[in-house]
This record gives sequence, C-alpha cells and structure tokens, in this order.
Amino acid sequence: MIRIGILDLQGDVSEHLEMTRRAVERMDVDAEVVKVRTAEDASAVDAIIISGGESTVIGKLMEETGIKDVILTENKAVMGTCAGMVLLARETDYEQPLLGLIDMKVKRNAFGRQKDSFEEDIEILGRKFHGIFIRAPAAVEVGEGAEVLSRIDEGIIAVKEGCNLALAFHPELGENTGLHEYFIKEVLNCVE
Ligand code: GLN
Repeated sequence: MIRIGILDLQGDVSEHLEMTRRAVERMDVDAEVVKVRTAEDASAVDAIIISGGESTVIGKLMEETGIKDVILTENKAVMGTCAGMVLLARETDYEQPLLGLIDMKVKRNAFGRQKDSFEEDIEILGRKFHGIFIRAPAAVEVGEGAEVLSRIDEGIIAVKEGCNLALAFHPELGENTGLHEYFIKEVLNCVE
C-alpha cells in the first residue's frame, strides 16, 4: 500500500484531497490519501501534494513544522500545483524558502496582471487538459536533469524531475483526474 499526503498548511487543500481520492478509486490501486500537517504526518507518507495558495506562507510553515526537512531527508515524491510548483523550484525571482527538488528557475507571477487568471486548453504527455491558471508561475529555465512536459506561448507550465512533478495550473479545480493518476503511477514506480 502507498500513502499519499495532501499538505494541509494553506491553500486549496480539500480540492486536492477529493481529486486524489477520485484518482485512486478510478485506478483501483491500494492507496490511502491523508492530510499532512506535521513532520510526523509527513514521515508516514510516500508522497506529498502541495496545493496552490501563497508560496511564501506555505514555505515558511513547511520550515517551521519540520515538514521540509522530512521531505528532503526521507526523499518523498512531491507534486506541486501553482504555489506548489514555485516551492519545488531551485530558484525563484523572490527571496523565499524552497524545496529545490526540481532543477528549474521559476517566475512567480509569470503571467502579469492583465492575465492574472485565465483558462486555456493544454497538452501534456500527448493528452489534452483544461488548464486553470490563477496568478500562475512559469519556469523560465530548466536544467538538464529536469524534463519539460508542457509549455504554452508564455512559458513552461509542467516540469518533471525524478518522482517530482510541477504544474503551473490547478488540475484539482477541473474534472480530469488524469494528472493525479499520472503522479500516483510515478509514486508507485518510485517506492518499488
Ligand atoms: N503565484 C502565487 C505564489 O507564488 C501562487 C498562486 C496560486 O497558487 N494560485 O504564491
């Protein structure tokens, strides 16, 4: 059995919880989906999903709770959406705590004010998704170890390195569980 934790410090946590549970059901895998609030909770899961929200706040709370240390020392797989993508980066255009698990530089509010929020159909891994972007980040540089999975005109919006997956948009706000299923499959490979 694998355990997937949804980081519950700030942001749209319940949507991810719901979407991950739906993905597990559809895949019919032996997986438990739980909330992660403490270092102890983090230690008990194989993977952690970091939601959208405010990346500086989430980053500081991850440090204060000791969750960041657990993720890094116990090699948890991480999927980050929006603010979660920012936190996965090696570097951003702000001074803020980061996990640095994906070799990429991210611009935090990459789409500027006029396009603070927008929706666009996107393609990832040969499949179409409806992308909901809310004050979204984008990767502006990606290192050799990391793989670009999708880009739109304005920038790189999906990046994977090892078992970690960064998405600039909010798959948890749509209907399609495909990206959660993809991450769960990666986690299953990683824990084997
Ligand atoms: N750009 C925001 C940040 O860096 C993230 C926005 C979001 O998660 N919707 O915190």
